[in-house]
Amino acid sequence: MRNAIRAKCLAATFVLAATALPTSVSLAAGEATATSTTASAALPRVAVLATGGTIAGQADTRAANAYNAGAVGAQQLVQAVPGIEKLAHLSTEQVASIGSQDMNDKVWFALARRIQEIFDRNEADAVVITHGTDTLEETAFFLDNVLHTDKPVVLVGSMRPSTATSADGPSNLYEAVEVAASPAARGRGVMVVLNDTIQSARATTKTNTTSVQTFASPNSGPIGYVDPASVRFLAPAFQPDSHKYALPSGEQLPRVEIVYSHANMDGVQIDNAIANKAKGIVLAGVGDGNTSKAALEALQRAAKQGIVVVRATRVGSGFVNRNVEVNDDTSGFVVSLDLNPQKARVLTQLLIANGITSPAQVQKAFAATW
Ligand code: ASP
Repeated sequence: MRNAIRAKCLAATFVLAATALPTSVSLAAGEATATSTTASAALPRVAVLATGGTIAGQADTRAANAYNAGAVGAQQLVQAVPGIEKLAHLSTEQVASIGSQDMNDKVWFALARRIQEIFDRNEADAVVITHGTDTLEETAFFLDNVLHTDKPVVLVGSMRPSTATSADGPSNLYEAVEVAASPAARGRGVMVVLNDTIQSARATTKTNTTSVQTFASPNSGPIGYVDPASVRFLAPAFQPDSHKYALPSGEQLPRVEIVYSHANMDGVQIDNAIANKAKGIVLAGVGDGNTSKAALEALQRAAKQGIVVVRATRVGSGFVNRNVEVNDDTSGFVVSLDLNPQKARVLTQLLIANGITSPAQVQKAFAATW
């Protein structure tokens, strides 16, 4: 794993052969501009940061549909997309080469720091991150909460590896760059683009294990649509500024466990989380964030010890509301509202890292968008 992450992100410049496309040569910031045309000089600069995933996947002989995620490099990915050089001056960097099931704090911190640096130094006008789809929503939400910028940041993945028949990676990457390069994308926070659809980091989630139409925003719908000819947002930009948190120094977020509720639930998972020194526990509850009496009692024990307890739901859509079947006020619990368990976990980690731990403060932060 450690080898997969470049401590210092290696910058590679994507420059198409001038002879192949003489009027649309793309140059990264700092490159010689001699071969750049007036038209291409007007293009926005988009930095593509690659982390791996199926979009960079390559077939394996294991089985007909087998592949290895993250096998294809950033530059190769971009070069496989016809016409992308007409959208932006592209630069590429390989930040990691992993399946996103292995995504971790170290890569998150490297990404967040590098993107902030790109914008602070004015190295690019927008950033596109290629990423596996499994945990893409968590990375998008994490970045949305820690990046201080109104410049577009777009995460993109694919459901089929680059070597598949009808691979969806190239068209998704094309459209991600198209969105990132669009002036209308400014001030919208971190976005996710797959299959002609633009979703917000907070609202979107992976909903299908294999279909190319997998990202949806069950509570609010997409924020826009994209096709090769147009980018359409459904509403004006709205980015509340209150939900920005500092990255802790070091490379690790506090331990927060997700506990999945089910019929015949006891308190063992919760007691284990307490024993493992979790600083927070997110309940992936049944229904409106409910769980059994035994699990509730265990959660109350956790809250009494100062562990942040957040009730979310395993349902997949809808809000978890306070004080419905559970007395959150007397139990010292927080509800996740619209955030699914995996995003509630990320926010809880960032809050604890920023010293925000009282149930009232944590609840206020969860409600910041509303
Ligand atoms: N396991 C892959 C990943 O998340 C799946 C994908 O990218 O679609 O990296």
